[in-house]
Amino acid sequence: MIRRGCRNGAIYSELRVRSPFFIRVDGRGFGRMLRDSRKPYDPGFARLVVSAARAFMEGSGLAPILAYTFSDEVNLLFLDEPFRGRLEKLDSVTASYISSSLSVSLGRVVSMDARVIPVCREEILSYLQESQAEAWRNHVFSYGFYALVGEGKSHADAMESLRNMRESDIHEMLFKRGVNLARTPAWERRGVMIYRSSSGIVEDWDLPLFTTDDGRRFVEEILSAAE
Ligand SMILES: [Mg+2]
Repeated sequence: MIRRGCRNGAIYSELRVRSPFFIRVDGRGFGRMLRDSRKPYDPGFARLVVSAARAFMEGSGLAPILAYTFSDEVNLLFLDEPFRGRLEKLDSVTASYISSSLSVSLGRVVSMDARVIPVCREEILSYLQESQAEAWRNHVFSYGFYALVGEGKSHADAMESLRNMRESDIHEMLFKRGVNLARTPAWERRGVMIYRSSSGIVEDWDLPLFTTDDGRRFVEEILSAAE
């Protein structure tokens, strides 16, 4: 005798989220996977992440108004509620679409997780500012880390040295080695934005800082074009 009703036990399937919200998709185990790629940044990999985010915006049938990416993460902003806001659908479809797209272009299977972050209209800018600050911290740390590893330190030793350094110390250390962190490619420092405009989907690899007037205006223009 089959016990009925188990298939209806998807007790979280009715959890819903209201817009606006971000979905953050993040690579799982990408550090290991990218061990042999260019350090500290691999433009080829960055291009593939941007392409996967763009493919989602163009082909998934969902309509985030922007995707902000850096490192192995993609932050998608929704002003509408696809799947009537059902959280499990949003998380699973988004993570699977972007990780599949990336898997196809990488030629190997990768997985990504996804989470929904509800925001109010006034928090959208702050979310992007915080994400960009994280991109910057990553950037400083990555350059510091691979400079030390390049001089023969083990990963653990490099990590330990950096733990005791302030950001300005890392700058100084790199400057002595001929690296000026203010002159690295903008996308490494500030991430990449993909957004909808009247002429179609635009990629911006040379972003302003979102904490400046220019940056605030940039974000506001994307938002008001979509509203
Ligand atoms: Mg990540």
